[in-house]
Amino acid sequence: MKQLHLATSWGELRLAGGSRAGEASLVLLPQLRLALDAGRPARALVPLGDVVVSHGHMDHVLGLPAWASQRQLNGIPGGRVYVPPAIAGGVAELLATCARLEGGKPYDVEVIPVAPGEVRPLRRGFELRFFATSHWVETLGCCVEWVRHRLRPELAGLEPAELQRRHAAGEAIAEDVRTPLVAYLADTGPEVFAAQPWLADVEVLVVECTFLRPSELERARRFGHMHLDDLVERAAGLRNRHLVLTHLSRRHRLGPGTRLIRSALTPILTPELHLLNVEWE
Ligand SMILES: [Zn+2]
Ligand SMILES: [Zn+2]
Repeated sequence: MKQLHLATSWGELRLAGGSRAGEASLVLLPQLRLALDAGRPARALVPLGDVVVSHGHMDHVLGLPAWASQRQLNGIPGGRVYVPPAIAGGVAELLATCARLEGGKPYDVEVIPVAPGEVRPLRRGFELRFFATSHWVETLGCCVEWVRHRLRPELAGLEPAELQRRHAAGEAIAEDVRTPLVAYLADTGPEVFAAQPWLADVEVLVVECTFLRPSELERARRFGHMHLDDLVERAAGLRNRHLVLTHLSRRHRLGPGTRLIRSALTPILTPELHLLNVEWE
């Protein structure tokens, strides 16, 4: 897997992962103990308590039973899996079946259906906000928001006693500041950019780029995937600090595909470009 160290307003965010369309995608944020998809088993996945499964395609879900099994073997309780409602029953059945195959107890994993628009607490100071992407099956995108409480700026400079008095009188003296830190688009066509315009300003944008050649544009549209031309078209409007690309089709060899993506995007892009594509063994 690849390791990225990304400068953000929160601090250095570590991101590990690897991706290839049809084989496996996983994006791990170990500081937040969060995995975005679990396309194949990975040792680094096991300690992470929260997993978002964007949709039911095997390249995004196959690592889940191994994650649950390894957590049970290592005595780690309380995993949570966030899934689109359409596959919640299937994912719960998959985990129950795998636990039965192993002959042991059911895994201690909660499968949580989440609909687009829902917000869930992740851990202190962080929330997950879900949205729909435009793939050919129901697919969840996910935004990690950094949430801080601060004194309302217009109250700065007041004495603590005065602030206490106002607070006691019922005045709201604090407010939440929400920073969209990471957005993960899973599998999607470009329509998601129009539906979710805030994506252009999230600090770390993780987006797929499956197809590269002009001849593959029709295929990209048919199956709800991003084409390199879609990103070229939108590059000038992206104000992110980092753009992380995933999900390269196996129609492209890793080296030439990487060079093609970099040569098309680097000259026209504001965000720093990172590629998570790997050659899985
Ligand atoms: Zn996929
Ligand atoms: Zn898919």
